[in-house]
Amino acid sequence: MINSMGKIVLASVFVAGAFVATAFTGVQAQQDLTIEQVKEGLYAIMGSGGNVGVRVTSEGVILIDDKYPQNFADIQALVATVSDQPVRYVLNTHHHGDHAGGNVEYINIAEIIAHQNARDNMVRGNQDAPPRVVFTDQTAVYLGGVQVRAFYMGTGHTNGDAVIYFPDLRTVHGGDLLHGTAPFIDYANGGSSAGWVATMNNVLALDFDTAIPGHGAIMDRSDVVAFRNQMEAVRARMADLIRAGTSKDQASERIRAQSLSWTMAENGLFMQRSIPGFYDEIAAGLP
Ligand SMILES: [Zn+2]
Repeated sequence: MINSMGKIVLASVFVAGAFVATAFTGVQAQQDLTIEQVKEGLYAIMGSGGNVGVRVTSEGVILIDDKYPQNFADIQALVATVSDQPVRYVLNTHHHGDHAGGNVEYINIAEIIAHQNARDNMVRGNQDAPPRVVFTDQTAVYLGGVQVRAFYMGTGHTNGDAVIYFPDLRTVHGGDLLHGTAPFIDYANGGSSAGWVATMNNVLALDFDTAIPGHGAIMDRSDVVAFRNQMEAVRARMADLIRAGTSKDQASERIRAQSLSWTMAENGLFMQRSIPGFYDEIAAGLP
């Protein structure tokens, strides 16, 4: 169906799996996925899990990320609303299960590609269906006259974030290097706030006017600049707090500031997820 926003909404429902063994508990509505056009030939599937990029070509579809395993059927159905071609490639932006979980299904029908470090993180975390094809600096898929590039531009959200670039559309898919609410610095998997700023500067060296973030609404170039600037501002604020003698326990509360939306998001919980690693990283960099 088409909702009031003009997006195609897939209102899937499933019967709770346990009803056979227990009492029928009713029909549970899954979180709806929606597909929206980003540019001619490029769509984004929003909703549960990370945003999926859908690059349509005459010889097949290239997906960027594939959400959770349970989203596979809905993703396939939404892709079918914009193309009669099969999904032939999936580029994973990083290893997290809300972006690469669907690999367990897609590995049977498509070639999955990720950064070497993202694959290593998947293997270390015992995730199913790591990609068979990896890259280190950059790679590209050429399909149906369309070029989709994947770059490693440095650490940030993790140590294996791929920046996906659609040069003809002047659009990037940033994975969780771009987040609509507030970023998570995954220190356990090589994340770094200092690296993140440098990586964002590398992203901004690309010629683009539109960006698909890992989560949240489609961004323009100024949103990406603002994201980079807030990363610098949050780093500076943490450095000030540490210089003022703030303890690690106090930092997650004291970093909150109205001028820094990330620190206020969901009552500060978003930044708290990245502390204490963030505290330690900034403290280690102070003279
Ligand atoms: Zn992530």
